[in-house]
Amino acid sequence: MEKYLSQLNDAQLAPTLQKDGPMIVIAGAGSGKTRVLTYRIAYLMSQGVDAFNILSLTFTNKAAREMKSRIADIVGNSEAKNLWMGTFHSVFAKILRFEADRLGYPSNFTIYDTQDSDRLISSIIKEMNLDKDVYKYKQVRSRISSYKNSLITVKAYFNNPELIEADTAARRPRLGDIYKNYVERCFKAGAMDFDDLLLKTNELLTRFPDVLAKYQDRFRYILVDEYQDTNHSQYLIVRALSDRFQNICVVGDDAQSIYAFRGANINNILNFQRDYDDVKVFRLEQNYRSTKNIVNAANSIIDKNQTKLDKVVWTANDEGPKIKVNRLMTDGDEGRYVASSIFENKMNNQLKNKDFAILYRTNAQSRAMEDALRKRGIEYRIYGGLSFYQRKEIKDVLSYLRLIINPADEEALKRVINFPARGIGQTTIDRLVVAANGYNRSIFQVLQNLDKVDIKINSGTKGKLQDFVTMIESFQVMNQNANAFELAEHVTKASGLIREFNKDGTPEGIARMENIEELLNGIKDFVEEQKELADTTGSLTEFLEDVALATDLDNDTGDDDRVALMTIHLAKGLEFPYVYIVGMEEDLFPSAMSMNTRSELEEERRLFYVALTRAEKQAYLTYTLSRYRWGKLIDAEPSRFIEEIDDQYLEVLTPVNDPRQNPMLNPDIFGDVEPDKIRFKKPIKRKSENKPPKFVAPPKLKPISKTTSDGVNLFDGKLTVGNIVEHIRFGKGEVLKIEGQGADTKAEINFENGGVKKLLLRFAKLQVL
Ligand code: ATP
Ligand code: MG
Repeated sequence: MEKYLSQLNDAQLAPTLQKDGPMIVIAGAGSGKTRVLTYRIAYLMSQGVDAFNILSLTFTNKAAREMKSRIADIVGNSEAKNLWMGTFHSVFAKILRFEADRLGYPSNFTIYDTQDSDRLISSIIKEMNLDKDVYKYKQVRSRISSYKNSLITVKAYFNNPELIEADTAARRPRLGDIYKNYVERCFKAGAMDFDDLLLKTNELLTRFPDVLAKYQDRFRYILVDEYQDTNHSQYLIVRALSDRFQNICVVGDDAQSIYAFRGANINNILNFQRDYDDVKVFRLEQNYRSTKNIVNAANSIIDKNQTKLDKVVWTANDEGPKIKVNRLMTDGDEGRYVASSIFENKMNNQLKNKDFAILYRTNAQSRAMEDALRKRGIEYRIYGGLSFYQRKEIKDVLSYLRLIINPADEEALKRVINFPARGIGQTTIDRLVVAANGYNRSIFQVLQNLDKVDIKINSGTKGKLQDFVTMIESFQVMNQNANAFELAEHVTKASGLIREFNKDGTPEGIARMENIEELLNGIKDFVEEQKELADTTGSLTEFLEDVALATDLDNDTGDDDRVALMTIHLAKGLEFPYVYIVGMEEDLFPSAMSMNTRSELEEERRLFYVALTRAEKQAYLTYTLSRYRWGKLIDAEPSRFIEEIDDQYLEVLTPVNDPRQNPMLNPDIFGDVEPDKIRFKKPIKRKSENKPPKFVAPPKLKPISKTTSDGVNLFDGKLTVGNIVEHIRFGKGEVLKIEGQGADTKAEINFENGGVKKLLLRFAKLQVL
């Protein structure tokens, strides 16, 4: 047997070695589903299956990259490179590019991100003279999105009186018209939005049997991770493609289905056995990720759900510490507690920042965490905010690049036609839009034919518009010979963007310049990387496609040593040694918006299951007694989910109302709280509180191991980043940065009792511990 297969247990080996036919692996968190997929691909290749014939669909591009690199370790990089692997969106965007002409799209179609869609929808609502408070663009977008994901095209919409009635009843009778306009405008702009990437793939596979046959023949083996979160549109694509060879392997966990609100259909996993003949079902039961305490606690939670497949999850791992539950006064206290606890754990257990994750239900909760981490000098990264590529200055540059590739791209054009300012006003732009709609041409085509079209624009403005067109056309000429980096660099200068951001001079302006530089570096890397790959050309089109589908998770190389902050939804599939789940309060988690029906509540519970099962060694749950929500300070009540965990797995650190005995308020832990700012409230009485709260002493710092009377002379540069040192006044601390040389060497140190300080080593009496 191949050596790598010895890294699987027997239950994992069975689906790995099952080469042909439809199969499903249903198993709980951390049981090795993703690992089975990875090894299975390596095994298929060892059995002579050509990498070009294997399609593997993952939930994030990052997951795909990690899988590919693991497979490359086993089978070698040159073979692994040929695998089709990525998210549904990225894989099918590539296929749509090959086949675009079938659907009447140019192969260089633009991918509109959510921001582009929002802008276009807003502008359509305005052009149609509709009330923007009734037709809220975000709601309209999500409605259109759900139609597309259910394969309800504009035609299908107007043929369905129920849908029309539903929108009319919701006081939005023109929704169908907006939908129609939106679809037409995207088409005219040569643009597809995210949902189109799936919808159009379905259209392609149903309308063109020869295309379907081609891809059925290409993808003889199909594998899907996180199958429980596929939506209808994705489901149909997988079904169609696997129909001929039926070599389809899906893995998933019904207990981790958390995207129903976005159209994911848990029934896809429940019905799999009905969809194919002779389905082999495999179960994995051993969890390799987490301690016994975490696994058992998670089992005790999911047990409360009525809708679920019966599953066993156990682990041979250590018992591990109990899950710590902590009550805090406010979200500020919660942040400080989490930051202190991370600091302590790092010190005591020699850990890195990246060993920690803070998970929350809503993005708004990150602020308190950030404040506290910043004060502690702990580096962190927030995931799920704006991706780098959606920042204003970056989108400005990208819009120029998009326009070069696809001049019909209306959103890109509207963004840059007067940025930097060229004296082209909004009225002019509005007139151009009207003319373009009237002639059924793109705005750029109207601009190229200004003398022939009927449009009221004075000659001065006409000149400016012509200059703009000439500039874009000159970029297009350059694009024929230059590589993406050379072109992008030229564009940032020639368009005036660099000058515009440079003249700003404020810290924000400087940050923008740095971001543009970063973008250019990114394009350079891309060009270099692509040179090594045989199947791509490093063209601007490919770069823009990568960018359009990038999330900030994808940019994460794993090299950064930062605490990860993200919503639970984003954390799916990931794992961290230490996990803090914050905001464990009723109405927040479970969310007030998801408690109306049993199925909504059960989805929240699955979300909690996902959160807890991300932890390898230790999990913390925190809740506060009051929290600002919608601008008001409200009393908060602990989440029912805490109570649902079997007591034996919990260590409740609920403080008593005396700061001297209260570990949370102990200044050793809470370095930066001023005692008089702490307010006390009556503890909320809960059903489970008939027994007195357990009192647990604050964790003790490890004793100092080395003592010398006057400290080490660090002047000779022995000190390095990451060292733990002790200072006579500030106590223990971690070295964050060292700068300067010789007598001027300074160190930035994050002290327990004083936060971050910069010290001149010549004078500081420091001891390395
Ligand atoms: P999730 O449901 O959260 O996506 P999963 O079922 O996909 O989890 P994996 O991520 O594949 O689980 O595995 C969880 C962890 O256990 C990983 O760190 C993985 O490397 C490890 N692991 C899985 N199987 C084994 C094994 N047989 N021996 C050692 N480690 C294993
Ligand atoms: Mg997984």
